[in-house]
Amino acid sequence: MIERAQHILADVFGFESFRPPQDEVVKTLIEGRDALVVMPTGGGKSLCYQLPALVREGCGVVISPLIALMQDQVSALSQLGIRAGCLNSSMTLEDLQETEHQLRTGELDLLYVAPERLQAPRTQNLLSQCRLSLFAIDEAHCVSQWGHDFRPEYMQLNQLKQLFPGVPRIALTATADARTRQEIIDRLELTDAQRFICGFDRPNIRYRIGQKDRAREQLLRFIREEHPQDVGVVYCLSRKRVEETAEWLCERGFNALPYHAGLDAGLRQHHQHRFLTEESVIMVATIAFGMGIDKPNVRFVAHLDLPRSIEAYYQETGRAGRDGQPANAWMVYGLQDVIFLRQMLEGSGAEDAQKQIERQKLEAMLGLCEITSCRRQALLEYFGENDHEPCGNCDTCLEPVPVWEGTEAARKALSA
Ligand code: ADP
Ligand code: MG
Repeated sequence: MIERAQHILADVFGFESFRPPQDEVVKTLIEGRDALVVMPTGGGKSLCYQLPALVREGCGVVISPLIALMQDQVSALSQLGIRAGCLNSSMTLEDLQETEHQLRTGELDLLYVAPERLQAPRTQNLLSQCRLSLFAIDEAHCVSQWGHDFRPEYMQLNQLKQLFPGVPRIALTATADARTRQEIIDRLELTDAQRFICGFDRPNIRYRIGQKDRAREQLLRFIREEHPQDVGVVYCLSRKRVEETAEWLCERGFNALPYHAGLDAGLRQHHQHRFLTEESVIMVATIAFGMGIDKPNVRFVAHLDLPRSIEAYYQETGRAGRDGQPANAWMVYGLQDVIFLRQMLEGSGAEDAQKQIERQKLEAMLGLCEITSCRRQALLEYFGENDHEPCGNCDTCLEPVPVWEGTEAARKALSA
């Protein structure tokens, strides 16, 4: 079986070798056992379920929250000669029926489904009549309230075990501190799953965090000096700031595109496509942008505002340097950001327990900004990796800075 997997790896995907632990994960699934995979963004999670779906008989069902990317993924797979389809709410009835037909007649290797689609009796009925090779639950942290991207639709995925006994399940995520990981295991009933937890270090990314002082000018200087021709992403907290910043960069000769949830879906798709296909392009975006985006040569990720958690910061900066070449994670923050984020949090209508979690996360993020020791060490410690030496590739290692004395006092004032 594993020999067959080796051949498919080379002949279908065109890769020379597995990246550990891909081979072990693939083996686990081929043998029909469940798996939990925690691997950084860009690590190669997709292959962990795509390949076993080709080896095992039947169709592999991939649950993904990323409807906007499903079609791209299906097209990319089709180009490799893999028979893939998707079911989601943005499709026409005709296309849905076509996919359903292909599934029924055994013409699909992989089927991408939005979680709410999977809940529909029609879909469950259809799936129960088909031979299935596996279920892959991508972006599995969406099932966790402690994770940073909770989706209620993911809660129902625990049913898969009862509804489809004998079909192996694999849950995959790039974000899992111990607590999120445990929540994934509990909620998806993956107690017997083989666990593959990979290191979180991204050594080629240089982390830098500074105080805000006319943030846009700082950003401009950074891009002009270090990345005049490069691909990058600039994250902002608000939609308004996204649009203003994109326009401002364009006026200064950069190919900058705005992206946020308030833009029309067509325009969003268009900008995403341009980002993926053009060189020297800068995406200015809210957190709405990025999950599942695979562009290897992003040379910098800049934060013009403070992210709301270390998980978010790690995910967002993780989009830089996926090709392994040097990349920058650059950020400026100010106390104004903290006030803004706190206001958003308090006004969010979330339950108290949830708000308490969010407050703790923001505190931790602020802590990362304020430390004077190695940032990478602190970041990795947050994800449970306690055995790293100072990295020599972050601002605090490269140019130790004096502490900003106002911070502690201001923080106390804020938390009063
Ligand atoms: P993730 O979902 O973990 O963020 P992807 O599955 O999108 O990562 O893979 C990231 C990149 O790594 C893709 O461009 C993919 O083609 C590439 N990749 C994955 N596995 C291998 C491998 N064994 N050899 C070479 N490239 C690989
Ligand atoms: Mg992925």
